[in-house]
Amino acid sequence: EAKAMGRNTLRFFDPQMQAVVTARASLEKDLREALQRNQLRLFYQPQVDAAGAVIGAEALVRWQHPQRGFVSPAEFIPLAEETGLILPLGLWVLESACAQLAVWAEQVGTRRFTVSVNVSARQFRQPNFVDQVLAVLASSGADPQRLKLELTESMLLDNVQGMIDRMGTLKDHGVGFSLDDFGTGYSSLSYLKRLPLDQLKIDQSFVRDLLTDPNDEVIARTIIALASTLGLSVIAEGVETAAQRDALAAQGCHAYQGYLFSRPLPVADFDAFLAGSRESG
Ligand code: C2E
Ligand code: MG
Ligand code: MG
Ligand code: MG
Repeated sequence: EAKAMGRNTLRFFDPQMQAVVTARASLEKDLREALQRNQLRLFYQPQVDAAGAVIGAEALVRWQHPQRGFVSPAEFIPLAEETGLILPLGLWVLESACAQLAVWAEQVGTRRFTVSVNVSARQFRQPNFVDQVLAVLASSGADPQRLKLELTESMLLDNVQGMIDRMGTLKDHGVGFSLDDFGTGYSSLSYLKRLPLDQLKIDQSFVRDLLTDPNDEVIARTIIALASTLGLSVIAEGVETAAQRDALAAQGCHAYQGYLFSRPLPVADFDAFLAGSRESG
């Protein structure tokens, strides 16, 4: 076909590439509609301490597509990032999570309880991000001290000073910061020292093979020691077995998140989990 069009004709698409482009365009259109039609949901995954008591929740977005069924955030978050849809989507996540946090704060009273919200690079880079977060906190009535924003090391690739400044302003208002997927990215120790962080989150890839891969065991131990040296708390994600939890505990990690304790839950189920945790604790 390209040959028929002449020697110097560039062929831009092969059919397979064309199909990928079409599928993405249609997913993008659907995601835009899902946002408008309020078809996204937030699930919450419990975070627990050494005794199994709930100390927080991570908000995780869910999209139940009318035809495709459940679409994973691992699929649509990158797309939302590329298209800019992450800006309205991220704002919606923040608003819902803060509204829910205000409700839970009443229930937990003075006990320790935070809600962690994932923030994407593009969202965090918005010039008005700080104002947006403060406005959402004010209008929801959520306690800034109970909000944690999860950032990733990939954000460190550009304008670190800008990032430090933005974090600093939010920290002055009480908002906490956790570095998600820690150990998979690019952070240098000098950045880590400069960032006003509260928590490192051990990536689930290191937790998965903790008991079988000596390298992962060393990495997990090193992250825990690093957090302690820097005066940060540490939480492990993707904890699926009691043996993994025990190994992490032996190394000094006392906060966990993973299927061992609970999958991410819709609000009603999280409420039940929270009530159960209160009775047993
Ligand atoms: P993440 O922030 O690292 O979230 C942890 C992921 O691990 C979640 O996947 C969670 O369901 C999953 N997980 C939790 N416990 C276990 C376990 O024991 N074993 C295994 N195998 N997996 C576990 P999920 O919900 O599919 O989210 C994937 C990623 O999508 C998140 O990774 C985060 O980067 C992104 N994401 C999710 N919600 C949001 C959001 O509201 N905003 C932004 N910007 N990104 C989000
Ligand atoms: Mg996260
Ligand atoms: Mg993570
Ligand atoms: Mg991850």
